[in-house]
Amino acid sequence: MNATATTPAWGLYEQLLPAEIEAIVARTPVAYLPWGALEYHGKHAAVGLDGLKAHGLCVELARVAGGLVLPPVYVAANTIKEVKDLSHRRHSLNFKEETVRTLAREHLEQLVDEKFRVVFLLPGHVGQPHYDILKEEAARMNAAQTTTTVICTSETDLISKDIVIVNHAALGEVSFLMSLYPQSVDLSRLPQDRVPTLADDAVWGPDPRAASAEKGRVYIEAFVAAAKQKITEALR
Ligand SMILES: [Zn+2]
Repeated sequence: MNATATTPAWGLYEQLLPAEIEAIVARTPVAYLPWGALEYHGKHAAVGLDGLKAHGLCVELARVAGGLVLPPVYVAANTIKEVKDLSHRRHSLNFKEETVRTLAREHLEQLVDEKFRVVFLLPGHVGQPHYDILKEEAARMNAAQTTTTVICTSETDLISKDIVIVNHAALGEVSFLMSLYPQSVDLSRLPQDRVPTLADDAVWGPDPRAASAEKGRVYIEAFVAAAKQKITEALR
């Protein structure tokens, strides 16, 4: 457990002993559930980008808000593999929407049963209806009981659009990854003589060639500030 008198208690759930978990829950009854995907993100970024991003953001958030970060669930529907007329058929594991719904429902049921007061569900992959399915399951759980508040949001829904917009393997996602997992990015694999495109490079959004760890850090700080406020409100 990482805790002193002044810093919030937080930890990686799967690495802790029961007594350590209980000590953190007693101080901050918050669980973070990062939801990833194994999905092609171009030649320049790791296929686990969405889960790495979501997990990294949950860790950054837990450091300031306290609580327990669960390992990412790397099961996604509606990946780039489904998009018609794109050649990115490899390096994506695409699951059925119903599988995602079942896994989300059972994860939330179990975390409610563990008596967390807040569950922060952070999908790193916002393909549709994958993202709406996770939000629907969060809303369903909130309507079904009163002890746990489930928050389901994406980083781009929390951060001002002036700072970062929804994207796939583009400026925002790549900057997050460069800041959190620099070994999982190689900008030199992007085309140098033209703007990257969805059809050729799996890039959707602002040009990732301008990505940097520094930009990623700005995005992370904006995310942490907005998310921490949501958690504080839910704990009140
Ligand atoms: Zn992504």
